[in-house]
Amino acid sequence: MIFIYDKEFEWEQRVREFDEMKNRFYSSTRWQETKAAVIEREDCICQVCGEFIVGRTQIDHILEISYDQLKEDDEELYNMENLQLLCVP
Ligand SMILES: [Zn+2]
Repeated sequence: MIFIYDKEFEWEQRVREFDEMKNRFYSSTRWQETKAAVIEREDCICQVCGEFIVGRTQIDHILEISYDQLKEDDEELYNMENLQLLCVP
């Protein structure tokens, strides 16, 4: 039982660490610049519904980003080919 408890604890810590890394990444200058470049490339058009976006936007990583990529500030995080602009309904 103690073993199970420890595993859960480790998992929770890892999830918390992942969230903190995501927050740091999304507020970085480099991400802000990448995001602006994606919005410009897509001309404010949502890549799923094709509507011109007037409200909130979301920059989506087509292939989900991983814990290891965030930890290493991997180049893939900024790969424009893996990014698309979406509207937020
Ligand atoms: Zn849309």
